[in-house]
Amino acid sequence: MIGFEFNKGIRYKNKPKKVKVFDTTLRDGEQTPGVGMTKDDKIEVATALSNLGVDVIEAGFPVSSQGEFDAVKAVAEAGLKSRVCGLARCVEKDMDAAMDCGVDLVHIFIGTSPIHRKYKLKMSGEQVLKRAEETIQYVKDRGFRVHFSPEDACRTELPYLKRVCEMASDMKVSEINIPDTVGVMTPQAMHWLIGELKKVIKVPAAVHCHNDFGLAVSNTLAAIAAGVVMPHVTVNGLGERAGNADLEQVVLGCRILYGIETGIKLASIYDTSKIVERVSGIKVMPNFPVVGDNAFAHQSGVHVHGVLAKAATYEPIKPEMVGARRRMVLGKLIGAHGIRDKLQQLRIKADEEQLQEITSKVKELGAKGKKLVEEDLVAIAEDVVGATAKRERIVELLDMKLHSELKKKPVATVTLKVRGRRKTATKEGVGPVDATLNAIRKAIGDEKISLGEYHLDAITGGSDALADVTIKVSKNGNETMARGVHEDVVMASVIAFINGLNRILRK
Ligand code: MN
Repeated sequence: MIGFEFNKGIRYKNKPKKVKVFDTTLRDGEQTPGVGMTKDDKIEVATALSNLGVDVIEAGFPVSSQGEFDAVKAVAEAGLKSRVCGLARCVEKDMDAAMDCGVDLVHIFIGTSPIHRKYKLKMSGEQVLKRAEETIQYVKDRGFRVHFSPEDACRTELPYLKRVCEMASDMKVSEINIPDTVGVMTPQAMHWLIGELKKVIKVPAAVHCHNDFGLAVSNTLAAIAAGVVMPHVTVNGLGERAGNADLEQVVLGCRILYGIETGIKLASIYDTSKIVERVSGIKVMPNFPVVGDNAFAHQSGVHVHGVLAKAATYEPIKPEMVGARRRMVLGKLIGAHGIRDKLQQLRIKADEEQLQEITSKVKELGAKGKKLVEEDLVAIAEDVVGATAKRERIVELLDMKLHSELKKKPVATVTLKVRGRRKTATKEGVGPVDATLNAIRKAIGDEKISLGEYHLDAITGGSDALADVTIKVSKNGNETMARGVHEDVVMASVIAFINGLNRILRK
């Protein structure tokens, strides 16, 4: 399966049929500024990565702290299908720590570029070469497999880099990884460099690209075309500075653009990205490929019409292939086709004339910069079509009490009418909004509702400013965005949540 005519025409001499994915979300990804993972976080992500089908999980840098050691050990002992790897510098205590964790693979690295040798290691080229050789031997003597990286390979003198790689290859390490540590390669340079190094590397070759110039994925794909069989990647492109090559894009590039097997369960890609987003606390940009909110969203009338007629007109990747969903966005660019589709989903009947009127009202609001969600469309459509489209409210707020005291957690009590029955619940929370939403969730109880994004805008200044809250509510994979506007932020949140509940429970 190679997509798209012009890609099919190019024959790369050394392009492999299959690559194995080396994921470093838990090591380089954890080095993302602001990210720190507990042992439980690492186990959760590692389990998701194993189910996704990555070959190697680099779980961390065991010598760096006791917590990190415990976490890597726990991942190694979790009985995952993937092989588990630990990072170590070329010093005994690092290698001992990694081996004591019981990893399958010890990733040893040593800086080979002149700048690393001179300023960081204060060692000559010969000393670095000797130290690397002794280290590989040390780990092999203890029965462990070695994944070897000449750090900053892409700024190392080629003849010297070849000597280092030849040494590691002769010592039969499991893989030799070529890191573009500071992300300075171009795809053409990377393709050429791998070709040169393949002359001396007789074991499988890996590559580790950074995104300082936005080329991490391109350079990784260029390296694969030149014969690399193990791309280093991270979920959501996390990693030091501008991050590493992104797993989702590298895998899709291999699969769709090159026709290469990766062993990755494509349909789990979206969910895995969401797990890492939650655990790392770093949200992907909306326009991020494959897993961003807009990756499969269509707003302009021309595109919506095209996609409804035949998805491939504007979708090079099928959303369901990666476990994502298509989204039609309401806005000033939406056309009548998109609106008709949306109204059908919402089971609102409108004739042609009504449809045109609804469309022009939506465009009018969109042009004013208003963010439109389904609720707005329902309101507009009901207004145009008339009261006939008014539908029953499944959940209604009857009463609400909030108790808040300094140095105590706020407590909320709500009374709802849910499918005609009165239900009351009390819950605490970190703040008044949290307490109230928790109480509502408890009151609806048996319905498996979860709350996603929460977004607050203040429309005007002052403490009585209108609060505009948008909440994502989901149930069994269905999700909906709902809004609430009120002078009080707690009430705006309650209105948004109850609007969302009504919509999601009707589905
Ligand atoms: Mn790195």
